[in-house]
Amino acid sequence: MIVDSLGRRFRNLRLSLTAACNYACEYCVPDGKRLQTAAHELSAAEMLRAVELLIEAAGIEKVRITGGEPLLSPKFDELLPELMGLPLTDVAITTNGQLVARKIDTIVRSGVKRINLSLDTLDAERFPVIAKSGDLETVLHGIDLLQEAGVRLKVNMVPVRSLNADQLVPLLEFCFERGIELRYIELMNMGYLRSSNRYVHEFIGMEEILHAIGERYEYARTDAPYDSTAVRFEVPGEGVFGIIANESEPFCSSCTRLRLASNGHLYGCLSNTSSHAIAPILSMSQHLALAALQRVMVAALGDKQDLAFHGETTVMKFIGG
Ligand code: SAM
Repeated sequence: MIVDSLGRRFRNLRLSLTAACNYACEYCVPDGKRLQTAAHELSAAEMLRAVELLIEAAGIEKVRITGGEPLLSPKFDELLPELMGLPLTDVAITTNGQLVARKIDTIVRSGVKRINLSLDTLDAERFPVIAKSGDLETVLHGIDLLQEAGVRLKVNMVPVRSLNADQLVPLLEFCFERGIELRYIELMNMGYLRSSNRYVHEFIGMEEILHAIGERYEYARTDAPYDSTAVRFEVPGEGVFGIIANESEPFCSSCTRLRLASNGHLYGCLSNTSSHAIAPILSMSQHLALAALQRVMVAALGDKQDLAFHGETTVMKFIGG
């Protein structure tokens, strides 16, 4: 197992099925080419081979299927059951929920237990202003379908001052009512946000989130697993929520995440543009492929920040959020 001087190793893989997305969220990408895939995306078979090799070469234990929008990709139906059959402790999905109704049979048949669903507002008019596409009603219907099927949900919300600052408590109450854990993701200074001066104005940090919640509820910090990205809080009698506090309380020193972008590039860190193309490795014999991947793992682990996320020009949509 390859471990760095901070004791970090890769355990969690984010697998981006496609760079295409049916949304173009205000804080993620400019509208225009949202449905465009990356040039030379890996096939489902290549992705499966990559995950099998990464389990052996890096000790990957958990895979989260993401994108782009993973439910948009034809690879989703083929890959999900295959991944469920691998020796992993967990396979989960991150989706914007717009296509859940279309994919519910595949999801249920696969036996997947955990899905994170991104939802930034409960305001139906504001919804397409943020996502540039889709609608709230469809997402809410998707949440109902997944809960009826017994899938454990978390909702991810990115608070952005000019877009959804009024939704901090309404979304929490929506999640409490449905037994869902809400996770506020602090806005990251990534992608095209980095080339504008919007970030500082738009950022809403953990302190401000907790202040808004504290006006309505008593909360207390609660346990989170060692390599969890979220700081977790409990509101007695109501439920639990988390804050992914990239800026306020960075978790780089215990980060175990590795990302495989849909074009076959591995990223060891969201805050580093370095990537490692593994497509040529996938057609090698098993032992040559494992040796080559282990060299890549050393380099990718070296890409991680030691202390704090400082952002980069990489875009979540392309490298897998
Ligand atoms: N399409 C799927 C979805 O919407 O969940 C998966 C991919 S999306 C890139 C994953 C997550 O990244 C979403 O929750 C999105 O809100 C978040 N995200 C994108 N850009 C971000 C940024 N600059 N800061 C924080 N979160 C971001």
